[in-house]
Amino acid sequence: MPTGKLQVIPLGGLGEFGMNCMAFRWGDDIIVVDAGLMFPEAELLGVDIVVPDISYLTENRQRVRGIILTHGHEDHIGALPWILSELNVPVYGTEFTLAYLEDKLDEHGLLEDADLREMRANERLKLGAFTIHPIQVTHSIVDCVALAIHCPLGVVIHTGDFKVDPTPTDNKLFDLHTFAEYGKEACSRCFRTPPTSSAGDTRPANAPSAGNSTRCSRIPGGAFSSPASPVRFTASISP
Ligand SMILES: [Zn+2]
Repeated sequence: MPTGKLQVIPLGGLGEFGMNCMAFRWGDDIIVVDAGLMFPEAELLGVDIVVPDISYLTENRQRVRGIILTHGHEDHIGALPWILSELNVPVYGTEFTLAYLEDKLDEHGLLEDADLREMRANERLKLGAFTIHPIQVTHSIVDCVALAIHCPLGVVIHTGDFKVDPTPTDNKLFDLHTFAEYGKEACSRCFRTPPTSSAGDTRPANAPSAGNSTRCSRIPGGAFSSPASPVRFTASISP
């Protein structure tokens, strides 16, 4: 059994709509999944957007190996112009997600210096102590992936947003088989997005997708050690 701790640090997106951003740390290696913004509620009058507090990342900038994007919705990529202007690290995403991001970075004059790296479903990436396995999922936008994040203690599944769609417009089918394979492994934990869709959309989760998805990440069995933000806890992964 390897020794060490996996730290999972939500920088946004837990228990709230938008601003999805979660860091994973093993030793001196940090990876970040998504970097979204949130549109403010009425009580934040005069505020246009809300972005994650990335002070934990800037304090550990030499340890951040990259930001991995699950898909191109604003609540998953919208904060990148603000984050990359303070922390220029490699950004990994699928072809469509990066194409969407390029326009956004161009608007902010950041495209030239950005280090964007395309990833494809089922092509694994090695980032420090982590190996990332992107898994094809379907959602209300094309080219979405979930992530199987391998670390020395086991595997964490980060589903991103998803909605099981048997007839996706890009013909990239939801890879249920790979999820089933990971489900057989005893030492895995899952960060799951409920398969819901837009507010007011009452269709079943496996209906063809349309419109934006709202989400709230859940950690089954997760325990928070502190109410402070960013909240840190250790995911215990045991065989
Ligand atoms: Zn989404």
